[in-house]
Order: sequence, then structure tokens, then C-alpha cells
Amino acid sequence: MAGCTDGCGTDARTAPASPAWRRALWIALAVNAGMFMIELIGGHMAGSVALKADALDFLGDAANYAIALLVAGMALVWRARAALLKGLVLISFGGWVAFTAIERALEGAPPQAFAMGAIGVLALAANVGVALMLYRFREGDANMRSVWICSRNDAIGNVAVVAAAVGVFGTGSFWPDIIVAGILAALGLWGGTQIVKQALGELALPDERLRRA
Ligand SMILES: [Zn+2]
Repeated sequence: MAGCTDGCGTDARTAPASPAWRRALWIALAVNAGMFMIELIGGHMAGSVALKADALDFLGDAANYAIALLVAGMALVWRARAALLKGLVLISFGGWVAFTAIERALEGAPPQAFAMGAIGVLALAANVGVALMLYRFREGDANMRSVWICSRNDAIGNVAVVAAAVGVFGTGSFWPDIIVAGILAALGLWGGTQIVKQALGELALPDERLRRA
């Protein structure tokens, strides 16, 4: 879920050392970027705001893996700038999803429940697959725990989308879609705000701290 402020099992401070770990991060980046596009386009075609809201987390996680691969190990100033950019993108996207949810609530056409549920199941499979792949590389209790908590939150978001699809199917109403979208968008906006706050705090540090890795 958008609660993974630092990626599922990635560390923004240290660059990934082993080639196998780097390869796993590239795969995680590709899967998350791909699922972002699938949920965004699928959400548009199926008329589901919840799918678009769930795409928010894939976007944030893809950004985390990109940061882990490209920016980790650089000076703090670059890591903080990358985090600031990520936070601002998440807030913009979350705001757009929230706006879309309100628009849909006023128009009121129910989404295509089957397509919505199928993409939700695919998203769940993608998150579980990536979590299992990354879990093999984690060492230490704290790391294991962060992969576990973050992946569990992502899975809860995916299950909420599938539950909303079932709700739409059962009731013929668009409300389950809007409600789940609203919750996921709110979590995304909250997560984005936390990231921006932390990044701005880091960028306000004295120069010699900012130039340090
Ligand atoms: Zn996530």
C-alpha cells in the first residue's frame, strides 16, 4: 500500500551490492512499473477508480526500486531530491484519483466488475511474487519485517479492490468502487505528504551533511 514509504525491502542509503540483488530489484521495478500501467489503463477501460487508486502504490514502489538502483549510495542531497520528486508525484497522482472518484460519484456509472476483479487478482499475484523474490535476499530481523509489513499492506490494498469488484457485482452500485478508491487515494496522499516532509527536512540540513553519502 502507499504506506511503503521506502520500498518493500529496499534501503535508500546503501546501493545494492551483489549482482543478484540488483537483478532482483530490476525485476521488481519492471513488474511494478508494468502493473502501474495495467491498472491505470485497465481502470480507465473498466471505469474503475479503485484500480487507478491501487495503481498509485505500484507507482510509488516502482519509484522506490528505481531510487534503490540509481540514487542509493549517492550524497544525501540527491537522495532527498529524489524522495521529494517521488513524494510530489504521489501527491499529484493521489489528488487526481480523489478528484476522479468525486467525479464518478456524481456521474454514477458502475464499473465492469469482472475486469476490475481480474486485474485486482493479477495485482495481488504480482505483489506476492515480488515479495517472495525479495524475501530470499533479506538478512536480519528488521529487514525481513519491513518486507513483510510492506508486502502485507500492498496485498490488503489488492484484496480491497477485489472485494470492491465483488461488491459492485453483487449490488450493481458504483459505491464499493468509490469507497475503496477514496481510502487508497487518502493513504497515498498521506504517504506522499510524509515523504515530502521528510525530504524537505533533509534538504534543510547543513551543507556538509547533505554532501555526505
Ligand atoms: Zn507498496
